Amino acid sequence: MQYYYSSKKPNALGIVKVHAENCKDLPDVLGRIYLGIFPNGNLALASVREKFQLTNAKICSCCVDQNVFSEN
Ligand SMILES: [Zn+2]
Repeated sequence: MQYYYSSKKPNALGIVKVHAENCKDLPDVLGRIYLGIFPNGNLALASVREKFQLTNAKICSCCVDQNVFSEN
């Protein structure tokens, strides 16, 4: 399980990125929104889409499914 965050503002393409806590592209404290603890990026993404009614949310490319095959 891992902490996930979304960026507070969409990027230039209008996409809100979802990041795991250890992501190298994680926005700083003021630029991110805490989403919760999830077993993988897909569940974090599903949550942010539902919670904030975002259809343009995407998981960060380096954070996608990174924990799916872990022991968690
Ligand atoms: Zn990432």
